[in-house]
Amino acid sequence: MTSAETTSADIVILGGGSGGYACALRASELGLSVILVEADKLGGTCLHRGCIPTKALLHAAEVADAARDSAHFGVKASLEGIDMPAVNSYRDGVVGRLYKGLQGLVKSRNVTFVEGHGRLTSPTTVEVAGATYTGRHVVLATGSFARSLPGLDIGGRIMTSDQALNLDYVPERVIVLGGGVIGVEFASVWRSFGSQVHIVEGLPRLVPAEDEALSKAFERAYRKRGITFTTGVRFASATQDDAGVHVTLEDGTAHDADLLLVAVGRGPRTDGLGYEQAGIAMERGWVLVDDHLQTNVPGVYAVGDITPGLQLAHRGFAHGIFVAEHIAGLNPRPIDDVNIPRVTYSEPEIGSVGLTEAAAREQHGADNVAVYEYNLGGNGKSQILATTGFIKLVQLKDGPVIGVHMIGARIGEQIGEAQAIVNWEAYPDDVAALIHAHPTQNEAMGEAHLALAGKPLHAHA
Ligand SMILES: Cc1cc2nc3c(=O)[nH]c(=O)nc-3n(C[C@H](O)[C@H](O)[C@H](O)COP(=O)(O)OP(=O)(O)OC[C@H]3O[C@@H](n4cnc5c(N)ncnc54)[C@H](O)[C@@H]3O)c2cc1C
Repeated sequence: MTSAETTSADIVILGGGSGGYACALRASELGLSVILVEADKLGGTCLHRGCIPTKALLHAAEVADAARDSAHFGVKASLEGIDMPAVNSYRDGVVGRLYKGLQGLVKSRNVTFVEGHGRLTSPTTVEVAGATYTGRHVVLATGSFARSLPGLDIGGRIMTSDQALNLDYVPERVIVLGGGVIGVEFASVWRSFGSQVHIVEGLPRLVPAEDEALSKAFERAYRKRGITFTTGVRFASATQDDAGVHVTLEDGTAHDADLLLVAVGRGPRTDGLGYEQAGIAMERGWVLVDDHLQTNVPGVYAVGDITPGLQLAHRGFAHGIFVAEHIAGLNPRPIDDVNIPRVTYSEPEIGSVGLTEAAAREQHGADNVAVYEYNLGGNGKSQILATTGFIKLVQLKDGPVIGVHMIGARIGEQIGEAQAIVNWEAYPDDVAALIHAHPTQNEAMGEAHLALAGKPLHAHA
């Protein structure tokens, strides 16, 4: 129904990133009318400034490593250098094709796409440049932004992932502030491209959200790659001049580099959008939701990075689909963060799902948990790829597998089976009975479960 200034639909979605557009696509599939409001580009952070462009850089990095290490495999090749503008144009090609595809998809599903900055003006209305869009339901999906620290201004040589992604040169020396997923991902790319990289992490270990065993193996691998790092020490200050950026830490140590990447986390993009005025309950900028992703205001939902929890694109997709189905009167299963698969993309990769050993022991009692580590040293494909690492299983004693934690080159690809195991609450025997193709890295998943089920094959008991 359309009048001069007001357009209405079943759902108005504010934000066209992973969470917002997934909601739009699923809702229209279910016969609901949808208005999708996006201030920038359909696809949001993940497609334009996150998942996809960074993984393209990581693939270029893998190609560089393959050229550099080719002699190990008896192949004569040499790495002449990195042509950053060419790397960027390869990356832009990938993003551009996906963007075009997504635009076509949204159009083909009859979603009304509105370009412009939207503001929530009541629990049922969003205003964009003087026009009002009314929905029986409103879905907030405005995502997140890269945070900095107090006193640390972004600009010049001090940048977040947004600027780092668009560099047209390879810096000689970089300091990465933050040893979480985004920080280690950029560290990996730059090291492969030839930079000297130093990571500063305030917590005691790199990738601190992961199982401790993974952090240890990851740190070993980074040390071997010549990536240096300081852990357990906090950032104190940074200055910049023509010569570079100068960083001091709270322990008094100083580090110089060409640039500083600030990767200290992402905050919710909710400021000044009318959420508080509409009565929506928030905490430190995050929109609070119940198990059904409903805010405290009837009819208003929130999805993706603006809700507290894991900041992952596939969580956003799942949230969006959930909300569409809930509004359509279906009975979708609530989404629990703990069993959402997580991949840290770097060399080596980390894949994990479910509880870490420490969390499992805390939650279920120290004596009620069993763990098993299958070393990739016994895995043929990993030997062929010349990678090391392991798959660590966390099991409720005599019960299901409740955590899978993996490290090694390309191991993130194994997250599919890992998440099926944890989410289906499989027992080691269930997985041990399945046949895994040889020689694949996937086979290591089978071997780990064979061992945990008491019948190890290529592993010591
Ligand atoms: C460097 C980097 C790498 C990442 N890599 C991965 C990865 O490999 N895998 C993974 O799962 N996740 C990754 N992420 C995280 C992932 O990008 C986010 O979790 C995901 O994009 C969240 O989706 P969202 O829909 O909640 O928000 P967003 O994708 O941020 O989308 C929000 C959208 O809302 C729009 N918007 C905001 N305010 C308004 C307004 N007032 N009016 C209209 N539109 C508005 C924005 O323009 C944006 O398009 C990465 C993030 C970064 C930064």
